[in-house]
Amino acid sequence: MKDCIFCKIVEGVNPAKKVYEDDDVLVFENINPVAEIHLLVCPKKHIESFLKIDESFSLTPMVEATQKIISEKNIQEGYKLVFNGGKYQTVPHLHWHLLAGKLEDNEDVLNKT
Ligand code: AMP
Ligand code: ZN
Repeated sequence: MKDCIFCKIVEGVNPAKKVYEDDDVLVFENINPVAEIHLLVCPKKHIESFLKIDESFSLTPMVEATQKIISEKNIQEGYKLVFNGGKYQTVPHLHWHLLAGKLEDNEDVLNKT
């Protein structure tokens, strides 16, 4: 979608530090991390938000990519997945945050993603 920053990352128009990519999913580093590991998992298809998901869209590729990364990074013992919505969502392209490792500060990470 035009003017969507995550679509531009998917298209390769905007740069990102990619961690994982397949036909359906792109995972890249958050430009403003609040934890040692702070990745964004998003579908290549533009979907605006969690509330726009319906039966025509499968979350399974995002789930499987995330499981793979959790295993590769060996963070099974402590990780967070965060979906922001409504006023807490700043980029209107579906994504969840994968957070792990040392937090950048001691505040509640749920208020900082
Ligand atoms: P939210 O929509 O609130 O779930 O969060 C969007 C996240 O995207 C924020 O944590 C930003 O730091 C991050 N972000 C915004 N632009 C970029 C970018 N160009 N590359 C990587 N991360 C980004
Ligand atoms: Zn988009």
